[in-house]
Amino acid sequence: MMAVIKTIESTVSSTPLGPAANEKDAEKLRFIEEMTADADAVQEKVLSEILSRNAKTEYLERCKLDGATDRECFKAKVPVVTYEDLQPEIQRIANGDRSAILSAHPISEFLTSSGTSAGERKLMPTIKEELDRRQLLYSLLMPVMNLYVPGLDKGKGLYFLFVKSETKTPGGLTARPVLTSYYKSEHFKSRPYDPYNVYTSPTAAILCADSFQSMYAQMLCGLYQRLDVLRVGAVFASGLLRAIRFLQLHWEQLAADIASGTLNPRIGDPSVREAVSDLLRPDPELAQFVTFECSKGDWSGIVTRVWPNTKYLDVIVTGAMAQYIPTLEYYSGGLPMACTMYASSECYFGINLRPMCAPSEVSYTIMPNMGYFEFLTIDAAGTCGAATPQLVDLAHVEVGKEYELVITTYAGLYRYRVGDILRVTGFHNSAPQFRFVRRKNVLLSIESDKTDESELQRAVETASELLKPYNATVVEYTSHAYTKSIPGHYVIYWELLEREAGDGKGPVDGEVMGKCCLAMEEAMNSVYRQSRVADGSIGPLEIRVVRSGTFEELMDYAISRGASINQYKVPRCVNFPPILELLDSRVVSAHFSPAPPKWTPHRSV
Ligand code: AMP
Repeated sequence: MMAVIKTIESTVSSTPLGPAANEKDAEKLRFIEEMTADADAVQEKVLSEILSRNAKTEYLERCKLDGATDRECFKAKVPVVTYEDLQPEIQRIANGDRSAILSAHPISEFLTSSGTSAGERKLMPTIKEELDRRQLLYSLLMPVMNLYVPGLDKGKGLYFLFVKSETKTPGGLTARPVLTSYYKSEHFKSRPYDPYNVYTSPTAAILCADSFQSMYAQMLCGLYQRLDVLRVGAVFASGLLRAIRFLQLHWEQLAADIASGTLNPRIGDPSVREAVSDLLRPDPELAQFVTFECSKGDWSGIVTRVWPNTKYLDVIVTGAMAQYIPTLEYYSGGLPMACTMYASSECYFGINLRPMCAPSEVSYTIMPNMGYFEFLTIDAAGTCGAATPQLVDLAHVEVGKEYELVITTYAGLYRYRVGDILRVTGFHNSAPQFRFVRRKNVLLSIESDKTDESELQRAVETASELLKPYNATVVEYTSHAYTKSIPGHYVIYWELLEREAGDGKGPVDGEVMGKCCLAMEEAMNSVYRQSRVADGSIGPLEIRVVRSGTFEELMDYAISRGASINQYKVPRCVNFPPILELLDSRVVSAHFSPAPPKWTPHRSV
């Protein structure tokens, strides 16, 4: 590992966070200090701003706040809600009702969350000025990073960034993921030159909606500028691994383009072709190098071999992404992984003030200016308190305790349960820092997909209908997110009961099982299906049939480890290696989905 965790010696201006790299950074660091010095006061001001500007909205009028903007009134009168509670309002806005339902400011678009409701992405209303707030949080990242990694102005960042498809709601509002909205905004497209934030990827390549063309162009540009690259990243770890996989699959074409200085005809988007042409030149030496490194068959440390000046990986490896840490370590030769921020479609929350710390140590400091934050206490059993849930303010959370995040935003969400469970690890000034513990109710996740227990149950039920003609049933099942190969895929373990053929069609064969795999995929939510179809970031679902009696063995194993026989329930997802080993040793046949499931960008509800 390179010695990059070092404080900058040359002092421009000192803040309690450390000497800043330059005056512009110093200003940003001072802003962090200012916001965290009295987090409670900032929060009070934020709440009062949100409530006063939205006082005349239908929602707040219904809560009978009567213009009150203080915390006591807010807490007494505004209910804590989930997405499902807001569905009627959201649907009206989506259908074109432009009155001030949730927000006094016009809803500019919907951000489609990777969290789903009834199988579709949740629609989060947003307003124009939220882009400024997101931009503000982004602008804090490099000043913090520059405290720990010197010289980032001497090179570039190879970031694999992508847009996804967007749709229109019946009322004509655009609906798209928050990052697509950001990359397509003038904030990103017309960003001023900043030597600390130069990307190897041309903006046109990032904005190309065709994921192959976008990735190809970004990789090609990254290869041409390989010696300039000081950091390699993607938003989530899964995205960076996808890029490495892309290199494994396409290095020959990339090397051929580099050798000849021409661009693969599969890149048909004129704006991408034009952007890449600025860099294109025949470079036989580089082509030979790419061929040499990629044809070896040994991909360990490929990141530092191809981009030897890389100081760190910039990817989120907290939460569901932690499963990718070993694979990323393998490909990067142990480079540090920086998790810089914690954000969502609903609201951008905060940043990591020690971005070079180990992934297991990552804590995010919620910036009190981004929204109004409350915390629902979680009891020892991991459930949110009983009849009267207890909510604690940002400045009053306690170190060591776990909470569910509840937010009130400028865009018109009031006391909205995000579904993230966070643990307080400490404070920066008076602002608490949080470890991301988990997302509630997520059983399986490969990238941004989040499949819960009831979705899995429904998918198994739907698929097992196909077994009926064969007099067979699924007696037990469990699942695992398999991420040892890229892309990862869902593995579902099935134990079957096959009765005597009788009037049935006979034994269940591989073709039927393949159909069951596809039926399960068809039953998954739209984020899963989009990842399968449009992004190729999840591989075909696999059903592993285990021999009869396996799930009883699983129970015996759990009981031998202290589980109560009365309370034992089959785990619907397993990650514990000995249990996976047991299951895998009992597999009698494995089957993959023979085709991608159906998916269109259009919403079904
Ligand atoms: P989305 O609504 O699709 O934008 O997803 C937002 C969710 O992604 C958050 O509520 C978290 O569950 C998860 N997430 C975002 N940032 C992080 C992070 N730094 N670490 C772990 N999980 C994260």
